Amino acid sequence: MSRNILIVAGDGIGPEVMGEVERVIAWFNENRGFDGVVENELVGGSCYDAHGVAVTDETVEKAKAADAVMLGAVGGPKWDDVPFEVRPEAGLLRLRKDLGLFANLRPAICFPALAEASSLKTELVQGLDIMIVRELTGGVYFGEPKGIDDLPNGERRGYDMQVYDTHEIQRIGRVAFDLAKKRDNRVMSVEKRNVMQSGLFWYQEMVKLGAEEFPDVKLEHMLADNCGMQLVKNPKQFDVIVTDNLFGDMLSDVAAMLTGSLGMLPSASLGAKDENGKACAMYEPVHGSAPDISGQGLANPIATVLSFAMALRYTFDLGADADLLEGAVEDVLADGYRTGDIMQPGKKQVGTVEMGDAILTALTKRTA
Ligand code: NAD
Repeated sequence: MSRNILIVAGDGIGPEVMGEVERVIAWFNENRGFDGVVENELVGGSCYDAHGVAVTDETVEKAKAADAVMLGAVGGPKWDDVPFEVRPEAGLLRLRKDLGLFANLRPAICFPALAEASSLKTELVQGLDIMIVRELTGGVYFGEPKGIDDLPNGERRGYDMQVYDTHEIQRIGRVAFDLAKKRDNRVMSVEKRNVMQSGLFWYQEMVKLGAEEFPDVKLEHMLADNCGMQLVKNPKQFDVIVTDNLFGDMLSDVAAMLTGSLGMLPSASLGAKDENGKACAMYEPVHGSAPDISGQGLANPIATVLSFAMALRYTFDLGADADLLEGAVEDVLADGYRTGDIMQPGKKQVGTVEMGDAILTALTKRTA
């Protein structure tokens, strides 16, 4: 049974890093019987140039039908002045919305070879492996009413509505509990129940869900401001963190920086399972299109390669293959291969394709 992967490489370094993922997919086809069938489509500025929109209806339909979508990055100065509704990011947001991707998974893993590059002390991050689960389609970014109004007294008022319904908390909570069961069996639910009614509600729903459906998973609670502090003070205390859209946006960026460069960070966004057990899923690096280095063969492809490892694990249920690919990345870092963004004294500086070569060689060595 073939596995259908839609690649939307996007702009800037997107196509460069995705080229290495295509080679990794070909390696898994040849050596592990993966049977991946890849189709390429445009998104972002490159799609605007070709079709006048940031993503076409046909691409959205293909994305819905695919087993997994791999997205590179969108945007760049070339499209700074295009109309707001067709700006490159609109393509990304439409895909997330139309595919119903409500759960954003951002792992923060510290590879041993890069522990020294963290802004924190090596012993605080060595061996770090946490997963942040952020609610992606609700909360204050989407809640109504929102706006900027003129007031009768001559002032203005800006406002956004933080709002969550029971089912939205339950479904993101289930994702977090299910992940914890495959990890260290611990969930930290994060909100601000001390000052926000929606935070108190989040807390109550999580307590109920944990007790009713996941009594064997350890559930704890933390206020979001404290969680920010604890992430930089003692990040290894966490296993899975689950939180809303706004707090998740910030806390996942804090956690990301514990592990070094943007060029190393993968992510997954998942939708709900349908009656056949199929869930829409999109995998993408956390970084953007890096216009400052695009077209020069300098970009680090590891974030995108690790995003494909997440696809192997979460969409295709191929945990051993995901471990293999993550292990190959660990090997190349231990062997001293570095793109410019993670370069350290005494290491071998390589470009995008050479890093891809090194990963393929490491895969072959691990399976010899
Ligand atoms: P960026 O992530 O593109 O780049 C930030 C810095 O990190 C740059 O110096 C860049 O060279 C470096 N960098 C990023 N990825 C790298 C990699 N794989 N290898 C080596 N170095 C890497 O963020 P930015 O500069 O703020 O934004 C550039 C464009 O990307 C903007 O148009 C922005 O809107 C867009 N953007 C898109 C996404 C996305 O598609 N998901 C995310 C963030 C930004």
